[in-house]
Amino acid sequence: MNPKSVIIIGAGIGGITAATHLARSGLRVAVIEKNARPGGRCNRFNREGHQFDTGPSLFVMPLLYEAEFGALGSSMHEQLDLQRVDPTYHLVFDDGSRLALTSDMKSMREQLESIQPGSFRGLQDYLQEGERHYHLVLNRLVNRNFRKAFDFFNPRNLDLIFRLKPLINHYQNMSAYFDEPRLKLAFTFQDVYMGLSPFEAPATYSMMPYSELAHGVWYPKGGMYRVVESLTDLARQAGVEFIFNSAVERIDVNATHARGVRLADGSHLDADVVLANADLPYVYQHLLPQDRMARALSRKRFSCSVISFFWGVDRVYEALSPHTLFLADDYRENFDSIIRDLSLPANPSIYLHAPARLDPSMAPRGQDTLIAVVPVGHLSENGEQNWDKLRDQARRHVFRRLRTLGISDIEAHIKFEEAFTPISWAKRYNLMKGSTHGLSHTLTQMGYLRPSNRHPHYKNLYFVGASTHPGTGMPTAMVSGRLVAERIKAEAG
Ligand SMILES: Cc1cc2nc3c(=O)[nH]c(=O)nc-3n(C[C@H](O)[C@H](O)[C@H](O)COP(=O)(O)OP(=O)(O)OC[C@H]3O[C@@H](n4cnc5c(N)ncnc54)[C@H](O)[C@@H]3O)c2cc1C
Repeated sequence: MNPKSVIIIGAGIGGITAATHLARSGLRVAVIEKNARPGGRCNRFNREGHQFDTGPSLFVMPLLYEAEFGALGSSMHEQLDLQRVDPTYHLVFDDGSRLALTSDMKSMREQLESIQPGSFRGLQDYLQEGERHYHLVLNRLVNRNFRKAFDFFNPRNLDLIFRLKPLINHYQNMSAYFDEPRLKLAFTFQDVYMGLSPFEAPATYSMMPYSELAHGVWYPKGGMYRVVESLTDLARQAGVEFIFNSAVERIDVNATHARGVRLADGSHLDADVVLANADLPYVYQHLLPQDRMARALSRKRFSCSVISFFWGVDRVYEALSPHTLFLADDYRENFDSIIRDLSLPANPSIYLHAPARLDPSMAPRGQDTLIAVVPVGHLSENGEQNWDKLRDQARRHVFRRLRTLGISDIEAHIKFEEAFTPISWAKRYNLMKGSTHGLSHTLTQMGYLRPSNRHPHYKNLYFVGASTHPGTGMPTAMVSGRLVAERIKAEAG
């Protein structure tokens, strides 16, 4: 194959990144996006002067972004005006006690020792383990393609079974560091970002709290959507063509190859290579002829979903820090309810984001922009979930938890509300089961065991994004874009 043209289905972060790499190596690249703007899950809307990032709000793993902007011939610091968010999160527990996670180790020592004497030593040991995991995971699992089973299952990788603790669950592993349940919560809730419960996530994921404290959580001036804007600019400079408001209805294939795509208006576009950034299980299910793989994928484990509320309020809530997390004591019940029962927990954990604390331009002067996110189960097969009812219950839980911070007048100050349920995520971005993080990151859905970034049968059909390798997250989507572009170039050459 000596490809000249590539069609990319979807302008998510993975699609835009791959497009730029491919265009920079001389290919003709067109990105076809069903929505009116790029970004996919990382999106934004503006209403009455309030700016809402509708998906990601945490700029984590800055070293990955730095490397990926560098690989695109640019620089993260040139592209983004970043400020460090420290404390990263303000945690509020059910009993009203609080913990501000910060890289200021003096403050961490004081706070932890007052919760459980001797626990600061536990934190230091835990962070050391997180650091080991972080480097091993990035070097040996994330930053590379797995084309053959042997790339993954080989004697050189055997040590990872011992060094990454993949067979021990994260929560159980916390007993080695802390006795106090609140501290176990404080350093495992990040597993939700992988769409996992800490009771099933491998202890490997201690890398996340480590990276947040060691490398920081950041915020780009102008909001998270600035990342999409800068990537789209780089893509355009490289010559990528974007076609918006245009849904791909199917991928045209013959026995061995993809020939191009058919759009919703009936037109056909030819391409030497087709790269799907739309959610991988959705592509197998809806854009390709039905086969065994499509059925197998629908039975895989999907990450949870969220109900998100976007509120424009007519006063400022200074008491709210940029990232507040209300964590529920009945932690296990919480995850069981989300992951096993596909529902809303009786006492859900809640994340509240107040972006105007970081960048005043996110709200009109004297007003506030608030985003509340409540993790819930993904869409069930039987369609029995009543999302209107669950959304209303979730809203009441947010108001209830806000009262514990002394905020009891919010209902009277909300000027307008927009809300997303799992149905919204599914419709807006074609996310299978409305699952916000795609296929979950269990042991059997990682590395070579995650669906490959090339179709096993159609040799010129590739995949990029959260449900393929390496997985969910904005910087990870950039890695995914680089890896698939490298693979296309290697296999085409
Ligand atoms: C609520 C939420 C919070 C998150 N928080 C964070 C966070 O704080 N930090 C972080 O790093 N990550 C976070 N993430 C994860 C991160 O947003 C994603 O992992 C990443 O953006 C996924 O990028 P992607 O390349 O998979 O593309 P997607 O975002 O999945 O984009 C795919 C694109 O394909 C388009 N498409 C689909 N079907 C078609 C079709 N038939 N024709 C044309 N176009 C099509 C879609 O419209 C979409 O634009 C969050 C995600 C969500 C949903």
